[in-house]
Amino acid sequence: MAIKALRGMNDIFSPEIHVWQLVEDHARKLFALYGYEEVRTPVLEELNLFVRSIGETTSIVEKEMYSFVDRKGKALALRPEGTASIVRAYIQNERAQSDPVARYYNIGPMYRYERPQQGRYRQFHQIGAEVFGIANPRIDAEMIHMVDQFFQGLGIDDLEIELNSLGCPICRPGFTKKFSEYLDSHQSSLCEDCHRRTQKNPLRALDCKQETCMTLMKEAPSIQDDLCDECEGHFDTVLTHLGHLGSSFSVNHKIVRGLDYYLRTTFEFTTSQLGTQNAVAGGGRYDGLVRLLGGPNVPGIGFAVGMERLIELILLKQKITPSVLAPTVYGIAMGDAAHELMIQVAQSLRRSHIFVEIDYEGQSLKAMMRRADRRQTPWVVIMGDEEVNKGIFILRNMGTKEQKEIPMGEVQQLPQRIKT
Ligand code: ATP
Ligand code: MG
Repeated sequence: MAIKALRGMNDIFSPEIHVWQLVEDHARKLFALYGYEEVRTPVLEELNLFVRSIGETTSIVEKEMYSFVDRKGKALALRPEGTASIVRAYIQNERAQSDPVARYYNIGPMYRYERPQQGRYRQFHQIGAEVFGIANPRIDAEMIHMVDQFFQGLGIDDLEIELNSLGCPICRPGFTKKFSEYLDSHQSSLCEDCHRRTQKNPLRALDCKQETCMTLMKEAPSIQDDLCDECEGHFDTVLTHLGHLGSSFSVNHKIVRGLDYYLRTTFEFTTSQLGTQNAVAGGGRYDGLVRLLGGPNVPGIGFAVGMERLIELILLKQKITPSVLAPTVYGIAMGDAAHELMIQVAQSLRRSHIFVEIDYEGQSLKAMMRRADRRQTPWVVIMGDEEVNKGIFILRNMGTKEQKEIPMGEVQQLPQRIKT
């Protein structure tokens, strides 16, 4: 039996791979304009890093961790998201000391042991970014606007941006208590998951997708009424500044996000076009996280875009059509001597950044021409013994079917010729 990839893990080929590269390229260029630099961290970390940061009672840690024990008995996990690893790296490499304000982005695979379905995989990819060292709410707005720009730049201009404030360690406990009491008094209408959550992580019930819970949440107490003055001021500035930057958004006090480290600003970018898997990006502020993981008291904020969902959206909306790269020149050589010379012609063209593909399988001119046609190449260079003896090669324009004999000595001028 042939070996297959693991469930929920995908291979990515051409032509889709070109869309992936384009999206990554776009992110790199845009984020650089805002001062973000790439950081690459290992995909494998100590399990404890995620348990401590994301939170023991979150669905990610409770149900979705790709964890295992190594040969020495150490509990490890494939990263389910990027922030925890970057914070770990930021602390370990003492970046806070060398640079009080730091902006990082990362692109790579994440792992969650979820039930695979459309838009939900066990290995998926995120483009994420983090800012350390800025408590000013204007950075929250700048970051959200940058994500907005990122999507707009890819032709995705109809995402909904939803914002919430989750309060802080001063005001959230009061709200959590009030909210728990509300859940307690409606125990019988809660789904099984939320029933369990009322003890450990009641706020998760806010974004439960079960019908009865959703109805119940309509009447539930709102965090809005419990925010302390500082959190309220912070949130107001985020909203005002985001408005100034020109991003449209709405406030949704039910956004809690599935990670415990968030406080104050949290946000989601959603689409109505991908069915149930509607979140394309999410993020928020995590001021206590660096300290929680043993670092200095540095504020932070970050976001992550789900690449599979974004690319599905791009393909669905046909904003970018993936195309197979066609060689500009296709080399057809017959005989050893012609092949020798063909390699020289190809190298000379490649030095001028021209994409050349040589046919190495050719049995007959006819078969090779058919392949050139299939590769949708605009130019073909043909060489056989006769041409070698005459010191020339044939240049064929595949569009007009016109052929010209070109002296070997004029190979340097070939780039100009095929551009016109
Ligand atoms: P969801 O609500 O869909 O479970 P999430 O809240 O768990 O998403 P985050 O942890 O915020 O997701 O991750 C950020 C983004 O990564 C999501 O908005 C989504 O686009 C993408 N994502 C998360 N989990 C998966 C997955 N299993 N497969 C594909 N993409 C995913
Ligand atoms: Mg999830």
